[in-house]
Amino acid sequence: MKTITALFIFLSFVTTLEAANQEWIEYKAKHFIIYYKSASKDFVETVEDSAEEYYEEIRQNLGFRRYSGWTWDDRARIYIYDDQEDYVNSSKAAGWSSGHAYTREKIIRTYPSATGFFDTTLPHELGHIIFREFIGYKSRGIPLWFIEGVAMYQEKAKRYGSDHIVKESIEDGTFMPLEELSNMRLYHHTTQEKVDLFYAESASVVNYLISEQGEYRFVNFCRKLQEGVDFLKALDTIYGRFNGIEGLNRAWKGHIER
Ligand SMILES: [Zn+2]
Repeated sequence: MKTITALFIFLSFVTTLEAANQEWIEYKAKHFIIYYKSASKDFVETVEDSAEEYYEEIRQNLGFRRYSGWTWDDRARIYIYDDQEDYVNSSKAAGWSSGHAYTREKIIRTYPSATGFFDTTLPHELGHIIFREFIGYKSRGIPLWFIEGVAMYQEKAKRYGSDHIVKESIEDGTFMPLEELSNMRLYHHTTQEKVDLFYAESASVVNYLISEQGEYRFVNFCRKLQEGVDFLKALDTIYGRFNGIEGLNRAWKGHIER
């Protein structure tokens, strides 16, 4: 009996292993390797086209284009789960997220959601990876709002729509100043309203830095981070006129209220 049980366990182990091995189908593109399960080939090819297009566009958006990108051997990997349930269960992601980037490993985990995969999730997560690849890991104290704002900036609709949301939050008194935003963490239990406002403010302030203060300054700021300069110190060096995070908050808020 014991042998039969052991054999059974062994066989189910082999079957599970086999299933895990067969689970992902690999599709190689220029800067990406796409893994999928039952998504259609058509969908996967559209992901390839969009990802390659965004790869160029995002580097241009951030002013990183003249710096080298990643090579053939160093391609980013995109895992397309079948649906939200598969994604949440397998990647242990929060229910409100529709994709997640592991920047150090250059991996995106996502699923083809009903809305916004190509316009929202893909450019957002790719924005995270390209930004992190450029600034590296030396700098300390980079707030989440800055990291998320850079990613949101890649989503065109959010880039232009966020100012409106921030303006409303100032009017109804829910606005969170940058000092508060800098200390904020997002948890599984954070309310949707708070998450939405956090992202809208992040997108708005980064949009303000790039569009109003100039791309040239923004690239120089990112280069300081790349050199390992602390976030607030880099802010003082490149955006000295704000005189710190409170000053940046005042200038940005004033710009929105105008
Ligand atoms: Zn993000």
